[in-house]
Amino acid sequence: MNLSVEKCPRCKAALEVKENPSCKAIVIKACPAGHYEKEFHPALETYIEINKVP
Ligand SMILES: [Zn+2]
Repeated sequence: MNLSVEKCPRCKAALEVKENPSCKAIVIKACPAGHYEKEFHPALETYIEINKVP
């Protein structure tokens, strides 16, 4: 799994890793300004991108 620095497609800020205490099998990386999130699911070897820009 690639966990190198990724950037928000909207503002180019580096994504921050969020703690997710309810599900430690998922790693969430999010734009600090809330534009974008990416959920990594290591068990499924996949990820979900979430665009939060209205
Ligand atoms: Zn952003």
